Formats: sequence, structure tokens, C-alpha cells
Amino acid sequence: MTEQSQTTSNTEKKRVIFCDFDGTITENDNIIAIIRHFNPPGWETIVNDIVGQRKSIRQGVGELFQLLPSSKKQEVIEYAIKNARIRAGFTDLLDYCAKNDVEFYVTSGGIDFFVYPLLAPFDIELDHIYCNGSDFTSEQIEITWPHACEGDCTNECGMCKTSIIRRFPADTYTRILIGDSVTDFEGAKIADIVFARSHLTLKCKELGLAYYEFETFHDVLDVMKQQEEAGN
Ligand SMILES: [Mg+2]
Ligand SMILES: [Zn+2]
Repeated sequence: MTEQSQTTSNTEKKRVIFCDFDGTITENDNIIAIIRHFNPPGWETIVNDIVGQRKSIRQGVGELFQLLPSSKKQEVIEYAIKNARIRAGFTDLLDYCAKNDVEFYVTSGGIDFFVYPLLAPFDIELDHIYCNGSDFTSEQIEITWPHACEGDCTNECGMCKTSIIRRFPADTYTRILIGDSVTDFEGAKIADIVFARSHLTLKCKELGLAYYEFETFHDVLDVMKQQEEAGN
């Protein structure tokens, strides 16, 4: 260990949050809600295979939207936006980050056509939002992958959270992940602090990773404020 890394305490590190969207910023998973509502034959198996990690997220999410015709574009978009609910405390978390110099990124395995509209009311710069893209020009809906896995990640994430997290070196940043499910599993392995709910808590237990359980963003804020006071 170098002298530099020994003397860099957490208080000198800048905090950066990587926050999932579906099932985290929104109360429910929008991809699941869409596919359940339009109910094309075969979707359940694909979802189970993704959550069970028998199929990569990229493969599975691509297949799910391939089940929906592009002609339903407006219906799909409207359904997703109308039915999503933002989790309590989200604005407070954003305010805290802005006032306390915490960088905030949305790292979402969701799709642009619902992620951007649902985040539009909030003060988040567009280049702090990472998600997948969509293409409605073919017969069936196609998902595009502008933030695919780089270098070290061979997980076929679709939107690769670890590729983004790795751009923030652990010796200068305290890297905080907030998430709920399979798109967060890889990121949780490399983050310094994990806030988890739902499937992600089970995965953290299975892997022996430390995590804080949360239900609202107020729970996240309570821990972050305590850590700040404790000098971490
Ligand atoms: Mg999620
Ligand atoms: Zn990846």
C-alpha cells in the first residue's frame, strides 16, 4: 500500500451516488409493469430467467421488448409514464446531494422513453442519467445499448453499471450504490456502500456483502447524514 492511499481517509474522498431507476427511484419496476400489462405470450419465462441469472440482462430485456410491436409505441410510453410512482424522499436526497457536494448519477437498466420523462421534473443534468435506448422503426420494439459493458465486465449488462462506477477511482471517491435488483448485483460487488431493497438484499446476503436496507430515500439520507457526522 502506498503512503498516499494510507493517508487518504474517507473524509477527504468525494461521495458519488449511483442510483438505480426501476424499483428504486420508482416504486415498481417499469419494464415488468409494461410487459405484464401488455402480456405478450412468453414474457414470464424471460423475466424469470433474467432474475435467476440464467439469461443476461441485455439478452432478456431485448427479448422482452421484441415481444411488443412498434405500432404500440404511444400506448407503451403512456402506460409506463402514467403508472410510475416516484419513491418517497427522492427530492430530499437530490437536495442533500446538491448542498453537500455529493455527485448524483442515475444508473438505470431501464429504457429512455420512460426514464427521461419521469426524471424531467427533477433537477438532474442529462449527462448524469445513464439508461438504455429504444428503436421503434422495426416491426417489433428494439432496445439499443449506448452504455454497454467495457473492458473488465463480461456480464452482458446492457447498461453496464460497473463500467460507469469504475470511472470513479476508489482512492478518490466513496462510491455509493442504491438499488433493488438484478441490474445492481455487479455494481454492489465493487461499490463502497450499498443501499439495498428487494432482490438486492438477498443477493448481498448470499455474497456476504454489507448493505443498508432502505424503503424510502429518507432511510438512505439518515444513514448518509450519520456517516457524514461520524467523519466517514
Ligand atoms: Mg431496479
Ligand atoms: Zn457490464
